[in-house]
Amino acid sequence: MTIQHAIIIGGGITGIAAALALTQLNRMTCSVFEIKPEPATIGGAINLTPNALRYLEHLGVLSRLTQLGCEVKSIEIASLRTGQRLGIINYDKIEKFQHRALRVMRHDLLQAMLTTLEELGVNVQYGMRIDTVVEGHGKITATFEDGMRLEGDILLGCDGIHSAVRTKFIQPDRKPEYTGVANAYGLLDATDIRDTIPINSTSLFFSRFGSLLLSYTDAEMSRLYISAVMGTQDVGSREGWITKGDDQDTLKRDLLRRFSGPTLPSLGSIIQRADAITLYPVYRLSENGMWSSGRMLLLGDAAHAMPPQGESVGLALEDVVLLSRILEHHETRPVEDIFLRYDDLRRPRINTAVKEANFGFETIKDRGWVATIIMEWLTWIVLAWRATRKEEEFIFDVLEVSNDGTAGGINGGPARAANDGAAGAANGGAAGAANGGAAGAANGGAAGAANGGAAEAANGGAAGAANGGAAGATNGGAAGGGIGAIARAFIAMLAFSD
Ligand SMILES: Cc1cc2nc3c(=O)[nH]c(=O)nc-3n(C[C@H](O)[C@H](O)[C@H](O)COP(=O)(O)OP(=O)(O)OC[C@H]3O[C@@H](n4cnc5c(N)ncnc54)[C@H](O)[C@@H]3O)c2cc1C
Repeated sequence: MTIQHAIIIGGGITGIAAALALTQLNRMTCSVFEIKPEPATIGGAINLTPNALRYLEHLGVLSRLTQLGCEVKSIEIASLRTGQRLGIINYDKIEKFQHRALRVMRHDLLQAMLTTLEELGVNVQYGMRIDTVVEGHGKITATFEDGMRLEGDILLGCDGIHSAVRTKFIQPDRKPEYTGVANAYGLLDATDIRDTIPINSTSLFFSRFGSLLLSYTDAEMSRLYISAVMGTQDVGSREGWITKGDDQDTLKRDLLRRFSGPTLPSLGSIIQRADAITLYPVYRLSENGMWSSGRMLLLGDAAHAMPPQGESVGLALEDVVLLSRILEHHETRPVEDIFLRYDDLRRPRINTAVKEANFGFETIKDRGWVATIIMEWLTWIVLAWRATRKEEEFIFDVLEVSNDGTAGGINGGPARAANDGAAGAANGGAAGAANGGAAGAANGGAAGAANGGAAEAANGGAAGAANGGAAGATNGGAAGGGIGAIARAFIAMLAFSD
């Protein structure tokens, strides 16, 4: 029996994207339920990576959004201690990625998605809180607290990190945990101080006491988003809140203590000017949780919320587009098989992203001078080391997914994946992965990975990794990896910095 009707719980980015994909690409009907009384977000601005933009284009949303945001060619990462650049995250490879990145206001993104959905004749039902679900006779029935009942073929839990679908019906013991880090963010009018702001479009400054992101959110570069990430004791609330009056003054004093100083004097006045600063405690989910049960599937943050690293929207959209692809190819298979197939294909990429996001967050907490200097060096090394993998992540496209594994190749790079391996190749590189391995090759490099190994090769290098090893080769070099000297050195340095 084909799957025709989806009940979607959550009217955020993932829920709306799911409704867009299933309605347009799978010709299904969707009923979307949001707990809030009206469309709302946690505020502030959001970075959309090249892959996020490709998926938004695929879903028919991007054209509404581009003119509302600020194009980001790269995020420059600098030391607040010295003002020196430590590295960049480079999005300026349009021939490979098809898009650069875009910083937009969260509400503009949600609104653009909602308008596109409305045009398809799908309306979100607001103020709806799910109460129970019952499965039987090839259907799932959801009942809401107001007594409304609805039958569907599948139910998608897109209700964010504190998901009721997850904690009530799929895995009640998988509760979010506080990371020990909070995010303080706000906006300011930068029109008359733009010359004093030391950034192109987006910069991230590392200090002893956390990191501070500055990013324009509009094409005219008149509105600046500031976002501080810092170690903070458990604030006793899982929701973010807008600080006002004395609370805001106290928070600003804390931000000034952490981030103002002689190297970049303008940061002090930027912090002073920011208004309505939101303090948002960052939670995360444990790795390897259950994503599905019977006819229910979790997508986006409900399945794999991780500390923000500026890429989670891309991952959530990827979830949705991958599900849509699998449904397209297997629509007559039992729902449980479809969800297991999804899990098999999706898990390796998400596990890698979760590890990276958790690792990045561990380096944020307050530390001494010596540890700060070591961390600056490590940041430089890690950014250089990860550059190729970041590139693969931005190139990776679930629209290229084959039935055997995940493989993405563009510009003539062949990629082959089998038994849940993941391979990506670009510009004549060749990559092959098997049995859970991950391989990426660019610019004529060749990489092969098997049995959980990870290999990256660029510029004519050749790398092979097996049995959990990691290898990377560039510029004609050749490497074969066990656990990887860089990773060992990195972990040793971190232990020292504690
Ligand atoms: C401070 C911060 C900064 C970030 N910055 C970036 C960034 O720059 N780039 C990036 O890619 N990602 C970023 N992220 C991550 C990104 O915001 C999330 O990955 C993304 O919002 C996930 O979307 P979602 O729809 O899965 O969940 P959410 O955005 O949490 O949406 C879930 C929706 O479900 C609703 N809901 C909750 N419970 C129920 C219920 N019981 N019934 C019905 N509806 C319910 C909620 O009200 C909400 O509308 C950031 C995250 C944080 C916290």
